[in-house]
Amino acid sequence: MSRRLEELRPLQPGRVTIYTCGPTVYDRAHIGNFRTFLWEDLLRRYLRWKGYQVTQVMNLTDVDDRTINAALESGADLAATTGPVIEAFAEDWGTLGLEEPEYRPRATEHVDGMVSLVERLTERGLAYERDGSVYFAISRQAGYGQLAGIDLSAGPAPAGAQRAFEAAADEEYDKEDARDFVLWKGGARGEQAAGAVWDSPWGPGRPGWHLECSAMAMEYLGDTLDIHAGGVDNLFPHHTNEIAQSEGATGKIFARMWLHAAHLQVEGEKMSKSLGNCYTIPDLLDRGLRPSSLRYLLLSGHYRTRLNFTFAGVEAAAKSVDRIHQLRRRVCEALDAATGKDESPPGASSALEEAVARARRDFETAMDDDLNVSQALAAVFGVVREANQALTAAGSGDSRAAELRATLAFLDDFDRVWGVLALRDSEGTETDGDLEAWAVARAEARLKARADRDWATADAIREELQTRGIAVEDSPGGTRMLIGSNTVTVAAGD
Ligand code: AMP
Ligand code: ZN
Repeated sequence: MSRRLEELRPLQPGRVTIYTCGPTVYDRAHIGNFRTFLWEDLLRRYLRWKGYQVTQVMNLTDVDDRTINAALESGADLAATTGPVIEAFAEDWGTLGLEEPEYRPRATEHVDGMVSLVERLTERGLAYERDGSVYFAISRQAGYGQLAGIDLSAGPAPAGAQRAFEAAADEEYDKEDARDFVLWKGGARGEQAAGAVWDSPWGPGRPGWHLECSAMAMEYLGDTLDIHAGGVDNLFPHHTNEIAQSEGATGKIFARMWLHAAHLQVEGEKMSKSLGNCYTIPDLLDRGLRPSSLRYLLLSGHYRTRLNFTFAGVEAAAKSVDRIHQLRRRVCEALDAATGKDESPPGASSALEEAVARARRDFETAMDDDLNVSQALAAVFGVVREANQALTAAGSGDSRAAELRATLAFLDDFDRVWGVLALRDSEGTETDGDLEAWAVARAEARLKARADRDWATADAIREELQTRGIAVEDSPGGTRMLIGSNTVTVAAGD
């Protein structure tokens, strides 16, 4: 709100309340959505790491324009349309190892609270009814739009905010001011057909999207919450209108801090259905990518900076995860061998122990600074380097247990926040044989695509193989692949 860094001072010392806008469950979430959810997971984990008790709410938007349209298109009712998407969301959430928020309310189960919020706004003179719908009168609220840099009293707003504002105003309905937004939408034919109507004092209808989040946030977290977060597209109109509704009803500050993640791009381009780059998690797993690499990559940029997803980036992420993971295994093995051989004289700490202590301080300083992930990771890789050197220098079994334990504790502590090593463990070790079997299957699919003259698929598979570090060469007889130091040939027509 202030566009400055501010110190987090929770309303109740030791406890942080967070509301994070959840997915609109009309279609499976894409990796852009998960960029935002993962960064929020990092925030939550880091606050817990710092000793705060975190109460996080992430809603499911299971009624709005998009879900209703999806229901109408598929011919099923709303619940039958959103149900499978919610299940898929839970599956992807687990795949990427996100922690479960304390509350995951569904909009359709909280309509009563939304209706009462509209009643309060009507009583306070901030909302009015027209033909069974209720609108928020923005000009009757002092300070409307501050989050988005809109100032109604000062003429056009700077920096494009005013343009977005005018564009958001639709003329379709009979409103006092075209820029007023809907709180409660009278049930039209579409809503009726999709089974998306509830009773209200204004007749059958359904809540507006902004209203849903205001009502659910306040129901679970009270009138004032510590942190409200989402992707940058939520800033206006969604969060701007949440503030208007909540503060209009309570007269209190709604959220004490607003955090917004910049968008994810794919190979340097905006994600969009027409470009075919709105990858889902299963799309990427089908290409043989590991959840731990995806998680690492999506967490590897600062949240306020745009992040670019590339297949080369996933490869690099996989290598980074493996470097930390392999060090952890190496330390565990050395610790087994060193047990009983201790100990250094009390009070003396080794160079490695000192490096670990320094890295721990640097990690915390970086994360305290608005979650500076690159610097935090630099501290972790500092330890990876130092520890590998110390282990190599000491030879097997000779390292001192104390420094090994300190290194292990640091890596495990890091992973309470990043959650990639645990995920990597659960993926098991991929042997060269697994990779080879996968590559042969993909090469066969590619030969078939070429036989069918489906060049786009054939090229996509070549790229997939290259992403895993496999060189592909075509010859009249088939495909030759270099996998590690092995050459494997898949003959055409096999
Ligand atoms: P939606 O399902 O569209 O309501 O979005 C769910 C969350 O994902 C919101 O917080 C959005 O701001 C966020 N989001 C949508 N697209 C992207 C993207 N390309 N990059 C990062 N976050 C996104
Ligand atoms: Zn929301």
